[in-house]
Amino acid sequence: INEMESPYQLVDENFIKNRLKKRGRFSHKGNYGHGLLISGSYGKMGAAILASKAALRSGIGLLSTHIPRLGYDIMQTAVPESMVSIDRSDIIFTEYPNLEDFDAIGIGPGIDTKHNSVRALDELIEECDKPLVLDADALNIIGQNQALKERLPKGSILTPHIKEFERLLGKSYGAFDRNTKQRDFSKKKAVVMVLKGAFTAITDEKGRCYFNPTGNPGMATAGSGDVLTGIILSLLSQGYSSSDAALIGVYVHGLAGDLAAEELGQEALIAGDIVEYLSKAWKKLR
Ligand code: AMP
Ligand code: MG
Repeated sequence: INEMESPYQLVDENFIKNRLKKRGRFSHKGNYGHGLLISGSYGKMGAAILASKAALRSGIGLLSTHIPRLGYDIMQTAVPESMVSIDRSDIIFTEYPNLEDFDAIGIGPGIDTKHNSVRALDELIEECDKPLVLDADALNIIGQNQALKERLPKGSILTPHIKEFERLLGKSYGAFDRNTKQRDFSKKKAVVMVLKGAFTAITDEKGRCYFNPTGNPGMATAGSGDVLTGIILSLLSQGYSSSDAALIGVYVHGLAGDLAAEELGQEALIAGDIVEYLSKAWKKLR
């Protein structure tokens, strides 16, 4: 961007509508991509369920969810629309299927940060040449292994909340300092960074920064971010660019949360409601 131009922009409904692709009358599921979600561990299978459902409710053609063995019955029952890829470990993420079969990969919700998972994530980051979204424990692993941070594939999307952000890039002194760090990192590493919270900030490889207006404090609830990961994975699989997938995903996630809160109230809102209201949110953008 030119130095005279402001790097900041507020997203609105038309900005998102203009970026949406139509579903062709003669299209088939092969046109909407095959995503791989790596998620869940002992006691955290809910993350894999929420993210999988969100991906499926956001237009993806095919979804495979890679989970530890103990999650097999849980996944097949809770999300019959998703295929399941099973890890050799009963309880954590230690390996992943052949990446050639997938259009995009999402990793992190509920995977924990055990030693063997660190190794598997390290391998995946080394090998991965597909669009990639990293969230939650994947970010925590990277935060604890700074060498990994240097090797992030270009075009990856990172979706930290403030705590995860600070584990990645260190403590910041207020919002402005944080934003500067975020824009510099996006530019230097050519990645899209989504700093989640009220007015989620999305920065791209050009150093631009977009603020998202949708969402409400009712979304400050367990599993809320896992839903966002599923939505972004879905959009990446469908061929949206990293920045469009992040911008559209964050907007529609917040919109679904707003529509849910309108009917259910902020206190009662749970992450599963955000998934349920994705339907109304997507319809509002058509
Ligand atoms: P996580 O902390 O990973 O579960 O992510 C929380 C999600 O809820 C993010 O997408 C946040 O942007 C969203 N969220 C949390 N609190 C608020 C808030 N006060 N206003 C708008 N969105 C929020
Ligand atoms: Mg999270």
